[in-house]
Amino acid sequence: MNAHPDLAIADIANTFDAMHWKVLDKRHLVFDDITPIVETLSASSEITTTLLGHSYEGRPIVRYALGKGPLTLLAWTQMHGDEPTATAAVLDYLHILLNSEPEGLPRNWQNMVTLHVIPMLNPDGAERGTRVNAQGIDINRDAKALQSPEGRILNDQVKQLAPDVAFNLHDQNPYYTAGTSSNPATIAFLAPAYHKDKHVDAARLRAKQLIAGMASTLNHFIPNCIGRYDDTYSFRSFGDNIAATGASTILIESGAALDDPHRQSARKMNVVALHYALLSLLSNTYQRYSLADYYRIPDNREDGLCDTKLSHITLGDSQPYQADISINLCRKTGKSSITAIGDLRTIHGFSDVDGRGLRVANIKPYVVTSPMHLDDGFYRKLLAEGYSYFVDTKGQLSHTCTLPVRIETAPISQVCMLPGERAFFLLKNNNGIQAAILEGQWTTLNP
Ligand SMILES: [Zn+2]
Repeated sequence: MNAHPDLAIADIANTFDAMHWKVLDKRHLVFDDITPIVETLSASSEITTTLLGHSYEGRPIVRYALGKGPLTLLAWTQMHGDEPTATAAVLDYLHILLNSEPEGLPRNWQNMVTLHVIPMLNPDGAERGTRVNAQGIDINRDAKALQSPEGRILNDQVKQLAPDVAFNLHDQNPYYTAGTSSNPATIAFLAPAYHKDKHVDAARLRAKQLIAGMASTLNHFIPNCIGRYDDTYSFRSFGDNIAATGASTILIESGAALDDPHRQSARKMNVVALHYALLSLLSNTYQRYSLADYYRIPDNREDGLCDTKLSHITLGDSQPYQADISINLCRKTGKSSITAIGDLRTIHGFSDVDGRGLRVANIKPYVVTSPMHLDDGFYRKLLAEGYSYFVDTKGQLSHTCTLPVRIETAPISQVCMLPGERAFFLLKNNNGIQAAILEGQWTTLNP
């Protein structure tokens, strides 16, 4: 394997930096976000635009094709409506292929390959920010039943195009790690099985070789942040069923990176990976990789990370014990939840706090009895006095706090340090309250 990315890979990465669609640097993408961009792309004489049909709610699902060659590649994105990262990436990649001359591509590459892209297969789910479509169906479990129009469209495309290589592009939750490391799996790959016995035919071997090459290439950019997704056969899923058609099928999951809420790192890595695949298919260089190279990619480990981890905290008032606490923050609702309490030494936190010497204080409400306004200063004072939330039965509390505030209409149970509960609590030592965990965020209090 190369010690450094070769010229063509360095070039595509630089070209991405210069040419990616800046307006798509968002946490979520809906149909209206991509409309002006696909209109721009469609205006090119090199792009063939095909209306494939409509979503359940009538939004158009369109295929964009570049090239007229015999090697057929098909990529689709956002079949889960809340997984937008690769939608931006494929639109970036089409833009780059149309408007630059990437290093390493033969001049006549469009006579050798046809690249078909279906961005945002589930526009209704995208609109709602849901995984499922407007029928409530997970399109990626509809490969056999075909009750969703989006699933039927994808199924028809696979039959019609019989792709040599299929790219199934998704997002995964931010808590996967690359193996047992504390690194987020910014990208995870899978060559899905097409049978429960996980046979490897020529097409699946090629998918695994391509993945080994993509992983090796991406490792120059995101070292040790790449995972290999579990290959348990999934009877109802598209990837597994498409793999059975003889297409070399590649699942790419975009994941988290540190300080990267819009997943721009994964977005760029999708472009680099797609470009590596195109170049190596044209030159057959993926064949230098073996199955062993594929299996050397560390496992994509579920729940290896949490948003906040507090280690060695003392809990229990009359019967003290020590435990670690993990907390996640839901990106959609903005609400935190305690995910686990106990020995969490195998779990890492995006934010990791050693709580040695700190005890969880008893939950104490501040009961609002008359109109009251709260700002950060006043709030901090009340937190330092041991109040961790407010009971406001008559809607008398207003606030301009930048810190998260928990307001309830009735007192909550004393037993609230349990998995599933929201993470609002105070930490103390013999000198009093030292810190607050507010919606999972650590806040130091200076009494
Ligand atoms: Zn998905």
